[in-house]
Amino acid sequence: MKLLSVIVPCFNEEEVLLLFYNEICKEADKFESIGVSFEILFIDDGSKDRTLELAKNLREKDSRVRYISFSRNFGKESAIFAGLEKSMGDYVVMIDADLQDPPSFLMEMYKAVAEDGYDSAATRRTTRKGEPAIRSFFARQYYKLIRKISKTEFVDGARDFRLMTRQMVDAILEMREYNRFTKGINEWVGFKTKWLEYENVQRVAGNTKWSFWQLFLYSMEGITAFSTVPLALAALLGMFLCLMSFFFICVIVIRTLAFGDPVSGWPSLAVIILFIGGIQLFCIGILGQYMAKTYLETKKRPIYIIKESEIVLERLVKYPDSPSRSVSEESS
Ligand code: UDP
Ligand code: MG
Repeated sequence: MKLLSVIVPCFNEEEVLLLFYNEICKEADKFESIGVSFEILFIDDGSKDRTLELAKNLREKDSRVRYISFSRNFGKESAIFAGLEKSMGDYVVMIDADLQDPPSFLMEMYKAVAEDGYDSAATRRTTRKGEPAIRSFFARQYYKLIRKISKTEFVDGARDFRLMTRQMVDAILEMREYNRFTKGINEWVGFKTKWLEYENVQRVAGNTKWSFWQLFLYSMEGITAFSTVPLALAALLGMFLCLMSFFFICVIVIRTLAFGDPVSGWPSLAVIILFIGGIQLFCIGILGQYMAKTYLETKKRPIYIIKESEIVLERLVKYPDSPSRSVSEESS
């Protein structure tokens, strides 16, 4: 019997969790008939609503369900990483709780990997129906840009909904960087991927957890994590300005020799100073971005912190007197 781990990052998903569970159970039944069992791993990313409580209830009823609860909101990237680390399956799939990733695709994805020899089956949406037009526009431009400036192949509309072999999961776990950009990491590790396409599906209930500003910051993360072109750009810009100023020096020297030196042109001077000053700050800003990321990486902080999970609870029941330290060590 093969085991398929289903990793579900959840942040305030009380409205959809049970709907999701019902849907995934339907798929699990289908898989049962081909000799594959499920492990459903809910990663509660510091939810403030009843998400954890619901996950615990499901665990009591269904031993296939497991849960991990973070000490605070660490972000979806951290939730995915924790899920990959704690999953035990021969195959692993990451899926959103809001049913925007149709569970009905699982069988096709599984067959691509288990039978057709792919290492992973990933999904991309071909439309962005139901999304604000301005968000779609920026997303498209962003993908165009990042594909130009990064060697990693970014796929437009790629979702995090992806099924992988244990081998690929282990490769991803080797990348222990603190600034995680899953879409890039999944491509960076390589392996043979089959892409499945579908039209955008709206969330069944609840709200998206991303504001425009958060998406913007996240996209910057992608650039700094997978490209150093902005740094080179800053250097090129500096070089270009040097050449330009050299050219203007020549022009001024020749003009002064030919026509004398009447004092004029302070407005243009002011503009030039402002322009150069702006560019300098901009370039320092770029440098700063990379430095900040380096700073965070060097601290080697944990990517997530577990507050509780079913493993901890079960040990507590089994060994009620065991010191809590060894219990938490066991779980992490
Ligand atoms: N999510 C998470 N932590 C966060 C934000 C989101 O675990 O800080 C989860 C969320 O519960 C959902 C998935 O990531 O299962 C995708 O989130 P959402 O639907 O809000 O994003 P969108 O589909 O709008 O990109
Ligand atoms: Mg969603």
